[in-house]
Amino acid sequence: MAAKKKAVVKPAPPKTAGVVGWPVGHSLSPLIHQTFASREGVDAVYLPIAVEPGYTAFERAMDALKAMGVKGVNVTIPHKEHALKYAASASDAAKAAGAANMLTFRDDGPYADNSDIIGFASGLEAILTANDKRGRAVVLGAGGAARGVIIALKSLGFSPIVILNRTAEKAEVLAKELGGETAPWDSRNQALAGASLLVNTTSLGMTGEPPLEIDLAGLPETAIVADIVYKPLETALLAAAKARGLRVMDGLSMLMHQAVPGYKAWLGSIAVVDADLRARLEKALEARS
Ligand code: NAP
Repeated sequence: MAAKKKAVVKPAPPKTAGVVGWPVGHSLSPLIHQTFASREGVDAVYLPIAVEPGYTAFERAMDALKAMGVKGVNVTIPHKEHALKYAASASDAAKAAGAANMLTFRDDGPYADNSDIIGFASGLEAILTANDKRGRAVVLGAGGAARGVIIALKSLGFSPIVILNRTAEKAEVLAKELGGETAPWDSRNQALAGASLLVNTTSLGMTGEPPLEIDLAGLPETAIVADIVYKPLETALLAAAKARGLRVMDGLSMLMHQAVPGYKAWLGSIAVVDADLRARLEKALEARS
């Protein structure tokens, strides 16, 4: 009698996702997702994937990742607009922002979303109290990140939103599209009078970039100062705000919170942003500086 064949149980491959950008080696996203996965005991791989600038390279790379069974990717500079173009469908948030930082390879086609908006909103909500007036919000910058920040501020009820940008026309376009006011870049010190919130969305103050020149004296004592730059973690702007006793939100808050929707869509179900995650990221940032 022939020996009974043993059933071969093939282990399921790990769930795979990643972050696509150029350059992408510096990204902290792999550490965030691997932390979530290891805490939950999920067999997952999250890779940094370098894709050259240009839509053709992006399209080819996405087709290949989809064919390989990758669940989805975060998308960073310079491909956020390409992700929206490539998608078969998109969330209202991605459409409103005109850019996507998440692409999910669904059976019915790639789906674009924008979790930068909820990332910024969640980071700010973590320090807002019921007593905080959601009044005048001053936004410095009118680039890709500013769009998401302005949409988040509107969703949190801040009004009016005043946008100041070196290139005034870009501030005007954003104010018109998203709703807001503009003021000249050179009037930034005066623009702070009576503001509930100041947000820097420019690259000024980032390591290797020129400093952000601003005098915070005009801000009320109750104001919050946010900087989405996270290299260095404590920018000169945040240091000046702390010296005045103001509450601050740093760029890591936004980065940690924006990762949650992607992790839940592709890899697992429990993604907690806490002091332990922050400590791991701070350590990684320190090692890289
Ligand atoms: P972007 O689209 O290139 O926009 C850059 C902004 O900075 C523009 O408003 C630009 O003004 C302004 N700027 C640059 N150099 C300037 C200078 N010398 N003087 C005055 N203004 C200047 O970049 P982005 O994607 O919005 O990113 C901006 C920053 O946010 C980067 O540091 C990025 O790392 C950070 N970021 C952080 C997160 C996070 O999760 N924490 C997420 C996204 C982005 P013009 O329009 O006049 O050029």
